[in-house]
This record gives sequence, structure tokens and C-alpha cells, in this order.
Amino acid sequence: MAMRLDGKAVSAHFKGQIAEEVAELTASGKRPPHLAAILVGDDGGSRTYIEAKDRACKEVGFSSTILYFNADISQDELLREVQKINENSEIDGLIVQLPLPSHIDENLITQTIFPKKDVDGFHDINMGKLTKGDYSGYVSATPLGITMLLKYYDIETSGKHAVVIGRSNIVGRPMSILLSDSSETGNATVTLCHSRTKNLIEICRTADIVVAAIGKPYFVTPEMIKPGAIVIDVGTTRIDDDTREHGWRLAGDVDFKLVEPLASMITPVPGGVGPMTITALLNNTLKAYKQYA
Ligand code: NAP
Repeated sequence: MAMRLDGKAVSAHFKGQIAEEVAELTASGKRPPHLAAILVGDDGGSRTYIEAKDRACKEVGFSSTILYFNADISQDELLREVQKINENSEIDGLIVQLPLPSHIDENLITQTIFPKKDVDGFHDINMGKLTKGDYSGYVSATPLGITMLLKYYDIETSGKHAVVIGRSNIVGRPMSILLSDSSETGNATVTLCHSRTKNLIEICRTADIVVAAIGKPYFVTPEMIKPGAIVIDVGTTRIDDDTREHGWRLAGDVDFKLVEPLASMITPVPGGVGPMTITALLNNTLKAYKQYA
């Protein structure tokens, strides 16, 4: 039976360290790090994420601001709001919750955030640095959180075959770069799979480490897992569940019940990668504060 990688507990550990650092800063008369978030529209999932980030900021002593805008905000108005935060020296990091309404060019908004405040790591400059193994910028929070989890549990990646399923710019692609880089949680031989991959089952079955970032509940089945593999489940899809108060629950991309007995280590959903993503975002914000405040 696999050991569960407890993202909640590991996240609490790192948040404790961040909180200590913030307490020292404020005790010496400095202002705390400040993260701003922009939410456009009223998508329930997006609101839940933004509010979880807001709570985490408060837990560690950061200042946190959420700016809510109606879904009909114009692109120019949103750009002006981003510029205002860019120029506000009291704000260290800015995230714009995606997706944005279809009349707004997400890439334009993302590229308008100053790279030094882009704690989500979506700006071309930060993505570019990552591809060169230059960690002076910011790495996207989910892959960064996964590397923090790997490090915490002393998981050896060097020389291992890692299969990443999903090639999005925010999860799969940066994850594949991190795992293949010559770093403490890298040096793996990486195969990046996507919807056009042939023989996905066979490829996955050769993996020592599987990272599933697809967005399809229970996609990864036991036939895809080599006994003893390490399985990281990024997927979070809301599926109907009448037994829950809200009428839904979060489902991962891995068929947890069937894969857990085969794997050596596995992240649950919820309580695995999700909390680590938020903690990695706090890390990036603290880094922005230390570099530029
Ligand atoms: P995305 O942008 O939709 O990307 C999904 C990827 O999966 C794409 O690269 C797609 O391939 C690939 N894919 C789809 N069907 C496939 C198939 N049948 N076989 C192989 N690959 C397939 O999603 P994302 O933003 O990366 O998010 C993925 C999941 O992670 C979602 O459930 C999301 O909610 C979750 N997530 C969780 C966190 C967290 O903190 N826990 C953070 C971010 C995202 P193509 O490129 O060929 O279309």
C-alpha cells in the first residue's frame, strides 16, 4: 500500500517557516509581504481558489487584497487595474485568476504584469528563465509546490523515468522542465505526454514517477502504473455528489482507490498538490518581497 504524501501537513510545515520570517520582519518595523489577486466574474471554483489564497496569506501574516470585477469589465479597464498594481510599491505580488472572460486576451493581461510581481510565474520572462534553469524569477506555483513536496519527502528523482501527462503552460510543461533540469529535484529522464500521445498506457507503465495533470477524473488506472511507482495527482475536477453539503466533491486524475495499493507513494485529492500550490505561491510572494520591496 502506498505511503500518502500529505500536502496539507507539508504545507503547514512550510507555512510555519514563512510565518516565522514574517513575524521577524514586522517585529523589526518592516511592512509584511503583500499579495494582490484579481478575480473577474463570479465563477464558484475561481472564487474558492482566490479565497483560499487569501486565507493562507492571512495565516502567515501577509497582507492580502482581492479585487473583484464584474465579468463585463473591458480589457482596457482591466489593463489599467493591472498597471495600478504594477506601480504600487506596497504590493509585492499580483495574480490574475484564470480563466478570464472570452472578450479579454489572457495572454495580454499576463504579459502586462511586471515580471518582478508575477508570482504565478506565467510571464514570458519567468517562463523563459525557467527553461534556462535560471531560478532568479518565479516558477509556476503548482509545479514548484510539487518540487517542494518531493524535497520534503526526500524523493530521489535523479536517473528516474518521470512521465508527465498534460502539457499546459501552468502545470505540465513547467513540471517537465523542472524534473529534467540538473537540480536537486530534477535529473530525471522525462516523457511529456498529451492528448496526441500514442501508447500512453505502455509509456506510463515504464514510469518511476507519474505526474497526472489532465483534468479528467480517474483517468490514470492501475494498468498504467508500474508497481512501486510514485504518483502525483494534480487533477481537481468538481463532480456531482449528493452526499456533500455543496452537492459536489473534488476528483483527481488518478483512480486513487485502485492505484494506491500498487504505488509506493501517492498524493490524495484533496490534500495533496492543492495545498502545496498555495504554499508555493506564498513562497514566491516572500521571494518578491525580499528581492524588490
Ligand atoms: P489543461 O490546460 O486543460 O491541460 C490538460 C492537458 O491534459 C493538456 O495538455 C491535454 O493535452 C492533456 N490531455 C487531455 N486529454 C488527454 C488524454 N486523453 N491523454 C493524454 N493527455 C490528455 O489543464 P491544466 O490547467 O494543466 O490542469 C490540469 C488539471 O489540474 C485540472 O484538473 C486542473 O483543475 C488541475 N489543477 C490543479 C491545481 C492544484 O493546485 N491542485 C493547479 C492547477 C491545475 P493537449 O495539450 O493535447 O490538449
